[in-house]
Amino acid sequence: MLRKQVYTERAHARDVRRRVSRWYSGQGRDLPWRRTRDPYAVLVSEVMLQQTQVSRVVPAYRAFLSRFPTVRALARASLGDVLRAWSGLGYNRRARDLHRAARSNRGRLPTSVDGLDALPGIGAYTAGAVACFAHRRRVAFADTNVRRVLGRVFLGRVATEREAVAIDRELLPRDAARWHHALMDIGALFCRARSPRCDECPLAPACRGRGSRGDVARHQSTFATSDRRIRGWIVTLLADRDAMTPRALEDAIADERVPRIIAALERDGLVERRAGRIGLPR
Ligand code: SF4
Repeated sequence: MLRKQVYTERAHARDVRRRVSRWYSGQGRDLPWRRTRDPYAVLVSEVMLQQTQVSRVVPAYRAFLSRFPTVRALARASLGDVLRAWSGLGYNRRARDLHRAARSNRGRLPTSVDGLDALPGIGAYTAGAVACFAHRRRVAFADTNVRRVLGRVFLGRVATEREAVAIDRELLPRDAARWHHALMDIGALFCRARSPRCDECPLAPACRGRGSRGDVARHQSTFATSDRRIRGWIVTLLADRDAMTPRALEDAIADERVPRIIAALERDGLVERRAGRIGLPR
């Protein structure tokens, strides 16, 4: 159904491609990871961008690459050192997964989409993005920005990942990297989740979702947010020290959930217990 709809609207697809390309020529964002084709640097940027805003990722990306300039350097480092370098970005499982990915292939990154996808913690989106941006493969993939833009333009609503990848596959121009960078920029700058700026959007004349009121905000429960914060605080506290007793962590954070969250961090491999004290993994 979806393929038919997209196939039968070639003029619309051409129009969208042209508008995207024209807008990107003059106004695309100049971001440090767009100036490299080093697969490792692209991977680091993609993992960081998964949950963090671009403005915070830029300095963190530079600092991380200056600390671990190659995938081998990252593979040689201890997880504790990687978590220290990640400090401030949050969602520390990403750092753990990146470290595991670096170690899983003897300090080399696969070049195929399937090989990248098979790395621990690296999903289809990240594998596609690295293959496209670093290896210049013409591969379809969709992050949340792409899902919003392609979905609203062609379906009048946010697409599922599967729908967005199918539409993307139909539209992919020869320079797939430029195309995806442009869609991501349009998603971030205009086609925002909650308040799309349709009046200024370069795709407005071609968009079926123009005037969209945006998605209803989905608030995480306060409890879930706080849990995540406490995880981050614990890792940040431990980043400055060799180890702390559970009691000292409880006193520092003053929250009854600390023991449970320490146990969860241990299960995730993000902290370890040494002689009754908690520290980042060595
Ligand atoms: S016109 Fe509005 S809904 Fe359509 S792509 Fe642009 S910002 Fe998104």
